[in-house]
Parts: sequence; C-alpha cells; structure tokens
Amino acid sequence: MLRILTLALTLAAPALAQSSAQRVQWVQPLAPFRILGNVHHVGSQGLSAYLVTGPQGHVLIDGGLPESAPQIAASIRALGFRLADVKYILINHSHYDHAGGLAELKRLTGARLIATAGEKPDLEAGRTLGRPELEGFPAVTVDRIVEDGEQVRLGPVTLTAIASPGHTRGGVSWLTSAGGKTVLFATSLTVAGQPLVGDRDYPQAAADFTRTFARLRRVRADVFLNFHPEFFDLAGKRRALLAGNAMAFVDPGETRRQIDRAEADFKAELARQQAAR
Ligand SMILES: [Zn+2]
Repeated sequence: MLRILTLALTLAAPALAQSSAQRVQWVQPLAPFRILGNVHHVGSQGLSAYLVTGPQGHVLIDGGLPESAPQIAASIRALGFRLADVKYILINHSHYDHAGGLAELKRLTGARLIATAGEKPDLEAGRTLGRPELEGFPAVTVDRIVEDGEQVRLGPVTLTAIASPGHTRGGVSWLTSAGGKTVLFATSLTVAGQPLVGDRDYPQAAADFTRTFARLRRVRADVFLNFHPEFFDLAGKRRALLAGNAMAFVDPGETRRQIDRAEADFKAELARQQAAR
C-alpha cells in the first residue's frame, strides 16, 4: 500500500513541482508604483493587479492567486491608500491566477465585486467549470453583473467594460482615462491549452475569440496593460518610468500589435486543432 502511494506521489511530483515553481515565480514581490495619473500597479512581478484611485473611493482590478491577497493589500497601503476606500473590485477573467485572491480582498476591503454574467458561475463555484485540470480557488460572491459597454462609476472615475470572451466565457477588458491618456486593461487573449474545436462546455470559444479581436481592434488606447506582466514588458517600462520617463507606458501602437500577435497565435492553434481532428 505504502509502495503504491510512494509510486503515485513520484509520478505526480514533476507536475506538482512545476506548478508550485510557477506560483512562486508569479508572486515574487514588486514594490507598488503609479503608472500614470490615478492608475497604480499593486500586483507582483508575475501577476498584475491595478488600483484606479479617486476622491470618492478606489477600484481594484484583479486578485491574483489566493496567496497574492495579502501582497495586494500591503501594496495598496504602501501607496498611502486605505483598504476601506476600495469600493469596487473588478476581474478580467475567472481563472485561479486572477480570481484566487478575490474572496480575501473582498473581506479585507468590504468592496463589491463586479463581473460579467459569463464569469459569475465560475467565481461562485471557485473553479473553472468544464476545465477540471485547472486549479480551483476560494469561491466568491458576485455583487453586480456588467454587460458590454456598461460603465462602472465612482465619483470622477469611470471604467467601461469591453466584453472580450474567448480565453474564458466572460472575459472582459476595461477602459479608463488617466493623466489625459486612454488606458486599456486587456484581458488574456491566449489559447491556454483549451479546446477550440468541438468542445461541449464552451463550443463558441473560437467564434468568441474572433469577435473579441475585432472588438478590441476598434479600441483606441494610449496605454496597453495586461495581467501577465511579461506579455507587455512591465519590468522594462517600470525601469524607464523610475529612471524619469513619465510616459514610459504610453504607446498608442501597442494595442494593435498585441492583437495582431494574439490573433496570429490563435489562428495557428485553431488550424493545428482542426488538422488533429
Ligand atoms: Zn487565464
């Protein structure tokens, strides 16, 4: 019995080790900083979270992993803001590496969680339904549903929801203006091991990706942000910012380039999966 157990653990070990190494990498701490205007980075080196501040309260976007919650809370405080002044929490998509800290952050701040109808079932189940291979996370109650084009307002702060499904059913990007610039918080646009052809749980994934690329191509943004820092060179831009370039994150051509790259990757993966059937 013990030998069987040992064998099972040995076989499972590489996958587990890789997963935990990835998590450790993701939560390497990063000092919080102001990106532009009232937009701040409060995430870690490997998982971004953003705080959009205002005189009548603040909006937090994303919660990282479960273990990110105390980091994000500490980063908000380190910037001089009060957790109790965070009134809304938004989420870009409900995978465990973005939604993991939401329940704890909601508890710490007392904020209301705003999400799309497509993400509500997964957030409230604490796992990605139909994708049992993905890790679960603490379940969290959604307080308000937003639709495409709807605005979240808090005093002078406005964030507009741009439905961006594909990577998940209810993925959403957010648009705001800060420091005289338009800032896009783009959801994940990658095909992360998901079936694009003939999937019973999410049969319209490929069609959704295609619509999302077209939708985001119509967005004019001066600043492109994403929740995986390596996708948009957060580290390099942060270095330039701290070296004195106040416009380090401003690049009006980046949204188009990011969508071009994501769409090319999506088409290649779709062709690969169609050929494999
Ligand atoms: Zn994801």
